[in-house]
Amino acid sequence: MQRLTVLGATGSIGVSTLDVVARHPDRFEIVALSGHRQIERLADQCLQFAPRYAVVADAAAAALVAGRIAGKVATEVLHGVEALEAIAALPEVDAVMAAIVGAAGLRPALAAARGGKRVLLANKEALVMTGDLFMREVATHRATLLPIDSEHNAVFQCLPSQHHRGVRRILLTASGGPFRRTPIADLANVTPEQACAHPNWDMGRKISVDSATMMNKGLEVIEARWLFDTPADRIDVVIHPQSIVHSMVEYVDGSVLAQMGNPDMRTPIAHALAWPERIDSGVSPLDLAASADLVFERPDFERFPCLKLAFDALKAGGGTPAVLNAANEVAVAAFLEHRLGFRAIADVIAHTLDQLPGRPADTLEQVFAADAEARALATRIVSERAVA
Ligand code: NAD
Ligand code: MG
Repeated sequence: MQRLTVLGATGSIGVSTLDVVARHPDRFEIVALSGHRQIERLADQCLQFAPRYAVVADAAAAALVAGRIAGKVATEVLHGVEALEAIAALPEVDAVMAAIVGAAGLRPALAAARGGKRVLLANKEALVMTGDLFMREVATHRATLLPIDSEHNAVFQCLPSQHHRGVRRILLTASGGPFRRTPIADLANVTPEQACAHPNWDMGRKISVDSATMMNKGLEVIEARWLFDTPADRIDVVIHPQSIVHSMVEYVDGSVLAQMGNPDMRTPIAHALAWPERIDSGVSPLDLAASADLVFERPDFERFPCLKLAFDALKAGGGTPAVLNAANEVAVAAFLEHRLGFRAIADVIAHTLDQLPGRPADTLEQVFAADAEARALATRIVSERAVA
């Protein structure tokens, strides 16, 4: 029996995780769940899985959840970041699904690593912000880090068992998002609804916008650098609009191994939950003959400037990826609230990066300082630009 904490249980990844878990009541037990403001959904999940703990944003939200479940399940409802860290590191927990979106997920993900847990990492922003530091904590505390991001989970499955023997390159596939063919001149006027209508994946709003700008792939390049200890010049991005090939590993003998499947996050989630075994995920089998032709293209940095910004931030190193991530979170939130145009997302990030070079990231305090400085600056830049 594997005992689980699911951080971000009410989100897209959290819901998919609980769907897989519910298929295997003999294998998994939910110890703790977290949500933020989606009270009803979290209460329903508590009623279904009867966890020992549930964590929400604040006392008011906690009272609402507690009221809804009172007399039905004995779940203790807590709130705040410290409670998130606590449920990530409980002694009775074996594995933690880290599926909070953005920098908010960093502290609890780190707590899981420091607790020596099996960490199922969906929260890529945590690794983008702290890369080296996070990997050192994983090693020091003998945690097991398993990637949930479909591309990294694919790479993990295609890597040799002996560490990196004969690997030449990692090839991350990208769908190109909803605007792969939109005339560049029209991109300034696209709406959040258009940006969130991803052709292949049903995801949270922040990552959907990241997919549309391809910042998501940029964050994933940085994530891959740390997860697989691979320098940036050995990580390539290939556009593959069908999202059937989830990523590839190229070897020195010319072999290229790919992991394929229908675009459904329950596959990488089930893989990481059961690893090194395999379990049913509920995903329908891939019907290759019925699939559309598989297409591969090179990405265009002019259409997707965020991808270039991320590669450059990775090369700059130190606290620059944390600055990139923070500026992106601010710009994407502003875009979703109709306060910023789509093309201006990249401009806000570029200006923030220009003005905050060389921030250190040797300690967590330095990372949070870079994050805070970048958020303040990006917020100012957004307000000056308004919707332009
Ligand atoms: P989502 O927006 O659907 O869910 C986010 C979750 O985080 C929710 O449970 C929400 O309650 C919680 N949350 C939000 N703000 C919080 C805060 N300040 N404090 C605590 N909890 C907070 O997002 P998602 O699509 O499930 O993505 C989650 C993470 O997984 C992201 O880092 C994303 O990049 C990554 N990811 C998602 C997918 C996908 O298919 N959805 C694929 C790969 C990676
Ligand atoms: Mg991905």
